[in-house]
Amino acid sequence: MDPVQRFIKYAKIDTQADDTTGTTPSTEKQKDLSRVLVEDLKELGLEDAYMDEYGIVYAHLKGEGDKIGLNAHVDTALEVTDTNCNPQIIKNYDGKDYHLNDKYVLSSEEFPALKKHIGKDLVVTDGNTLLGADDKAGIAIIMGVLEHLHNHPEIKHHNISVCFTVDEEIGEGPKHFDLKKMDADYAFTIDGGDISHIDAENFNAQQVHIHVEGVSVHPGEGKNALINALLVLHELIETFPKKETPYDANEDEGYWHINGIEGSSDVCDLDMILRDFDYDNLLKRSEYIKEQAALLLKKYPKAKIDVAVRDQYYNMLPYVQKDPRPVDKAKEALIKNGLTPVMSKIRGGTDGATFSKRGLVTPNLGTGSSNHHGRYEYLVVQDFLKMIDVVLDIVKL
Ligand SMILES: [Zn+2]
Repeated sequence: MDPVQRFIKYAKIDTQADDTTGTTPSTEKQKDLSRVLVEDLKELGLEDAYMDEYGIVYAHLKGEGDKIGLNAHVDTALEVTDTNCNPQIIKNYDGKDYHLNDKYVLSSEEFPALKKHIGKDLVVTDGNTLLGADDKAGIAIIMGVLEHLHNHPEIKHHNISVCFTVDEEIGEGPKHFDLKKMDADYAFTIDGGDISHIDAENFNAQQVHIHVEGVSVHPGEGKNALINALLVLHELIETFPKKETPYDANEDEGYWHINGIEGSSDVCDLDMILRDFDYDNLLKRSEYIKEQAALLLKKYPKAKIDVAVRDQYYNMLPYVQKDPRPVDKAKEALIKNGLTPVMSKIRGGTDGATFSKRGLVTPNLGTGSSNHHGRYEYLVVQDFLKMIDVVLDIVKL
């Protein structure tokens, strides 16, 4: 099957995740794609392919040497619908405005990166949905590799362990991921953008919940008695560094970000996230919040302030450094295909970060897609096809 047509076939299956259901998968429809993938994997000779109760697909192709894992996720992002996704192909893109539909225009003025792709073919949306190249392009790349090996049984290759996860977009991808079922020595997520990039570093992440209780009294009789929880919380926020927000932070810098505040003068709650490439720096941030809360409690002994901190995910770098095999292999394969490898840092997390922490070192590779999570998402056909060759070279002996 033509890899682009295969991608379009997967893109047309609605697999949008939902962070409100509390189930795994968060939406049953993710299994619609998982079921198709099991059938397609079997057709390509991966006879043990199956979907578990969570919608996660596992399959293995026997070879020699290392057990190399390949992972992509079936779900799509929450920002824009995936229902009735109807990809269109632009042949020989000319860099001019392209009308996705009457309302939306894909413009290289607005997205200057498009200018690099003049003369190539693009797969775009019809303006009504996202494209879901994140991460169905990753899935189609893995299937393209398997199809090539199926058609060329003479090619000697490593053992290949395939896994398609669910709910990556809501950070739940690794929740039910089973290392034993995957059975790999090291792995790759194929879930990035630029195909020359190898992402082997990502943020460490903490979530902080602050709960403040004041003292409620009729405001008319509040003199020396009413403690306003909102004002106590406000004082605490005022102690946070002003120049370390996502607006200010760039490249190597971490940040503090308040997601939401809810409550009244009696009781209020704040949710925030902390991000840093350096774990000790991350801890310093959350320790600082606790120290400032303790100081405020001295000032307002009748108030109550709880600071709850939870680790969300960790930088994969220390694990990648301990086992350089996947990054070395990826570099070699990129160079062989005429690309200059760029080591890049993800200002976020990946499923691979959590896999790495759990013992399966998993850097991330690109798919040739861009503008993820929205209607302007596009896939560069020639880059996508080249990535099939790159991954083939990774798994070849
Ligand atoms: Zn993704």
